[in-house]
Amino acid sequence: MPRKLILNRVPMKKRKPGERIKIFDEVALGYTEEEAIKEAERCLQCPKPLCVDGCPVNIDIPAFIKKIKEGDFIGAVRIIKEDNPLPAVCGRVCPQEEQCEQRCVVGIKGEPVAIGRLERFVADYEAKQGLSEKPEIKEKKNKKVAIIGSGPAGLVCASELAKMGYDVTIFESLHEAGGVLIYGIPEFRLPKEIVKREVEYIKSLGVKLVTNFCVGRTRTIDELMNEDGFEAVFIGTGAGLPRFMHIPGENLLGIYSANEFLTRINLMKAYKFPEYDTPVKVGNRVAVIGGGNVAMDSARSALRAGAEKVMVLYRRTRKEMPARIEEIENAEEEGIEFHFLVTPVRYIGDENGWVKEVEVTKMKLGEPDESGRRRPIPIEGSEFTISVDTVVVAIGQIPTPIIAKTTPGLEVHPRWGTLIANQKTGATTRPGIFAGGDVVTGAATVILAAGAGKTAAKYIDYYLQNKDKKGIWEELFEMK
Ligand code: FAD
Ligand code: SF4
Repeated sequence: MPRKLILNRVPMKKRKPGERIKIFDEVALGYTEEEAIKEAERCLQCPKPLCVDGCPVNIDIPAFIKKIKEGDFIGAVRIIKEDNPLPAVCGRVCPQEEQCEQRCVVGIKGEPVAIGRLERFVADYEAKQGLSEKPEIKEKKNKKVAIIGSGPAGLVCASELAKMGYDVTIFESLHEAGGVLIYGIPEFRLPKEIVKREVEYIKSLGVKLVTNFCVGRTRTIDELMNEDGFEAVFIGTGAGLPRFMHIPGENLLGIYSANEFLTRINLMKAYKFPEYDTPVKVGNRVAVIGGGNVAMDSARSALRAGAEKVMVLYRRTRKEMPARIEEIENAEEEGIEFHFLVTPVRYIGDENGWVKEVEVTKMKLGEPDESGRRRPIPIEGSEFTISVDTVVVAIGQIPTPIIAKTTPGLEVHPRWGTLIANQKTGATTRPGIFAGGDVVTGAATVILAAGAGKTAAKYIDYYLQNKDKKGIWEELFEMK
């Protein structure tokens, strides 16, 4: 008998804007057991589930949703963890609307099944029960693999290799593991306790974590491979170097890169100054430049840190904004002002060298560029100024050059500084060294980084089992 289509998804409760704009607590509150079961009942259990094709780590989505429907929440999380060790993180921040949920057939007539919310629900349920489902770990292989960077790419690569029985060590330059999940995405979207819990889970699989260890400074990759016995290396160092516009006045006081601004707030808990000792000065009139997730997080963090007025200045329109729609809506509800079709051309400072105005020019949209979005074109003579005392520049990041500079033979893209690697296997231009995540693609998403870590683990295993085979590296580097 054909199943009845339930067009609308079960809404997820969230804090009211008035309550949330002064606190850093999580905005979205998650499903209850009853709500999760009700939402799971909307899934049609498609024999050829398109949602799975849309998931970069290929979670068996209908199978885990079926378990939820049956009330077996731990069974559901067990299925997810076979493919993704970060369910509580991904359930919260993955752009499901562009991935699994975009492919869900229920979405043709109604709202797609809320796969992300269901993933989050079971991960949180498991944590509440104090449980931690672990997959089977294969016999130890006595081969050491080094993972550089503990963001989603490194964490997933490490967990996959540990499950295969490798001796895995993650080297992380910061004092805490998690990459952007810990220093970039704010508490109100992704509580740090959740990231820590998922990092602990990966450690529980046998992965060693060494923090405050900057590869390229503390040890080079060659030292790790030639002196410390690592037979393969995975680089998942992300894209942590902020881009600037290089316009006059950009070095005035009060102008931050989003990286610095968010790191101070998230990692150094600047908003708890003087309890924590790294302050951040957030003025009354804050302008955030950009239209992606980083810009939304900066704007909403500035509001919570005490700004009276926060403006997002974006050079295209709302339609072209790369941020998640849910986060744009949250920002709008919280009273963030959006100024579309404008771009800064210079900053003007006061007598103390502090920014006091940003001069912007109006833009119009031309033909689509290589990203497929319509190219913004400045309108001559349309300049005007906006009074500000803080600016956060959130126009993108590129990888830091330290590893490439200290690793002979490791090639980078001449324009973007990203590592050159086979996108399927992760093989770089240096035998034994693999890479994936933002350091290869440029700033992207958590799940794409996780997916790259997962496939690289598969090919690291293949490489280590066939290391003596002639032409193995050419095969991995050229694989289609
Ligand atoms: P990262 O997460 O950047 O991790 C790299 C790690 O490597 C870092 O911990 C870094 O300290 C470490 N490292 C760097 N160099 C060295 C070295 N030499 N030695 C040792 N360690 C080193 N994506 C989404 O899907 N959804 C979102 O909502 C979202 N919001 C975002 C909000 C912000 C503010 C930012 C900045 C990004 C956001 N993203 C989002 C993008 C997403 O977080 C990244 O695409 C993802 O984290 C990339 O993962 P990664 O593992 O490649 O690198
Ligand atoms: Fe369920 Fe949608 Fe996936 Fe079909 S495509 S199995 S309805 S989640």
